Amino acid sequence: MNRFNDFVFWTKNTLFRQDAMKLYKQALLSEKLPTEELNKINWEKRKKLIRFAYERIPFYKEYYDDNHFHPDMLKKEDDWKLVPILEKCYVRNRRGDLMDSKTRRSYFAESTTGGSTGTPMKVFWDKRFKIEITGWRAFRWWNISPADNVGIIHRRVPKVAWAKFKNRAMWWPTKRVYLNAVSMTEEEIEQFVKQINDKKVVWLQGYVGALERIADYIIKYEKKVTSLKLVWSTSAPLLMNVRVKLEQAFRCKIMNQYGSNEISNIAQQCPNSPHLHIHYDYVHVDVVDSDGNIMIDKEGDILVTNLTSYVFPLIKYRLGDRGCRLSETCTCGCNLPLMKEVKGRISDSIYTPDGLYVDGNYLNSVFDNYFQYFDQFQIYQKKDYNIVVYIKVKQPRANNIDIVIEKIKCRLENDVRHQILISMEEVDYIKDDKGKIRYIISELTPYISN
Ligand SMILES: [Zn+2]
Repeated sequence: MNRFNDFVFWTKNTLFRQDAMKLYKQALLSEKLPTEELNKINWEKRKKLIRFAYERIPFYKEYYDDNHFHPDMLKKEDDWKLVPILEKCYVRNRRGDLMDSKTRRSYFAESTTGGSTGTPMKVFWDKRFKIEITGWRAFRWWNISPADNVGIIHRRVPKVAWAKFKNRAMWWPTKRVYLNAVSMTEEEIEQFVKQINDKKVVWLQGYVGALERIADYIIKYEKKVTSLKLVWSTSAPLLMNVRVKLEQAFRCKIMNQYGSNEISNIAQQCPNSPHLHIHYDYVHVDVVDSDGNIMIDKEGDILVTNLTSYVFPLIKYRLGDRGCRLSETCTCGCNLPLMKEVKGRISDSIYTPDGLYVDGNYLNSVFDNYFQYFDQFQIYQKKDYNIVVYIKVKQPRANNIDIVIEKIKCRLENDVRHQILISMEEVDYIKDDKGKIRYIISELTPYISN
């Protein structure tokens, strides 16, 4: 931790961003509150948001009336199950009716999400909430400061000289180095790694796929990074083999995060546990079964309620991810509830002709015992249901590699009950999607989900 950086950072925020500082102080207090009190804060925020949505947002009034739900019905926690689930298709098709027309446009921040159909979907979040404070809070768990020098791999980075200058001035004395996730050539990665060392970068933030490419480069050319204390991995499930590779290359701890384009920071990993603390005072997370029943300690569909966005309320919104909320509390002293790491999206699934749905979490795990043999894999299902598994084999090739590949093929054939043809294809490179690696792609998904 650099004391001068820290001093300037917090002084600037105290002077010019009082709203963010106030929120931050509250956030630090609330994570330590007893569970009952935290639950109460979360519950009151949910009730307030739902009442607002019903009174102000045309979509919710109509949708809740149609489903015979009224905010007055929320008397106790158990009544939460009565709130109808918000599906992605409503957000896609009724965007205008989901916006609060009476709130100033300057409070709307726009975010575009890919969505499984490939058509971008626009959503909004509320600028009055300073989302970065949830990240600041998690930094404390990891003994890092937001004022520490940082490396950022992102799709939007300052490119022209003026933007770079403005960025440097704004963040001074903290040094920020950037790598554009869209065009990561080996020269650019080389330059970025050099900058990490030159500027003594303390933490790194980026998409899993992009981080993995940098790690590959570091390992291949036997480069050394010495200053990093934390790598913050975003945007996709962090598989065990990738985590191990990142730890080996960056020689520091890896923090997993769960977020989405709709709500950027939902939960972050605790250093004392493999699980993630939900930012429960700002986001409510439910996990439901196929009938919409709320479950604890069981895996199901994740629904999120953004407690801080009134411009475009998302209430019990089905994000398209599978996850598990846990009843256990953490030993670290933070009382924010825990969830397991999210291993896959609903869209990352394979389908069989007779309607069987093979979960992405499960498919990913097929490779769990074989990571010493492979650098990367991707399970690709074509429209005719047949599957091609692309694999990049680790060099030098293991003697028994053909047996291993055959074993995986058999296991997958069993998983899909021999209804689908599976072929294994060795490749030199698996294409990522702007830095995000997709482990499972099914061309059938758009026809089934949404
Ligand atoms: Zn913890």
